[in-house]
Amino acid sequence: MAETLNAYLSLGANLGNREETLREAVRRLAKHEDMKILAVSSLYETEPWGKTDQPRFLNLTVSLQTRLSPESLLAVVQALETELGRVRHEHWGPRIIDIDILHIEGVERNTSELTLPHPYMTERAFVLIPLEEIASKLVVKGRTVAEWRDAAGDEGIKRVAGWKY
Ligand code: ATP
Ligand code: CA
Ligand code: CA
Repeated sequence: MAETLNAYLSLGANLGNREETLREAVRRLAKHEDMKILAVSSLYETEPWGKTDQPRFLNLTVSLQTRLSPESLLAVVQALETELGRVRHEHWGPRIIDIDILHIEGVERNTSELTLPHPYMTERAFVLIPLEEIASKLVVKGRTVAEWRDAAGDEGIKRVAGWKY
């Protein structure tokens, strides 16, 4: 693909059939004609962050190449969330699927629609542990993902053995 960007996504689910929803999300991203998946992390079961009285999440990360603009990529992942049955309730509450854009290499954004890099990615172990698997040397906000991961620790994060998308 000419004129492409490298993007990193975080996917999470804590309602419904979490594994199947995440599998379907990765499959649909892989089928999108304007994207090429580069890597998919392992799946992790994680304690909820921010609002802790809700079911555990399953989380993974994906790296991809795309010729979409950052804003178009956001529109695509939000449409995919809706297709997979996400209904918007409270902020940080339970959800069938959440897809965040963590980082796009060479891109910064600070609009009401899109903040890049994602403002909390460097403090969330549930993002950094799966991201380290596929992009340990990626530099975000002046440090590598591996360095941010060391600082965040790994409490409450368990790898799910044998998961395939
Ligand atoms: P958090 O952003 O803390 O992970 P959340 O994922 O629960 O919270 P949502 O309700 O899914 O938040 O999204 C709220 C809004 O965040 C979206 O409508 C979107 O416009 C905006 N947003 C800003 N930056 C990003 C980003 N990097 N990736 C995805 N959405 C973003
Ligand atoms: Ca999120
Ligand atoms: Ca989100």
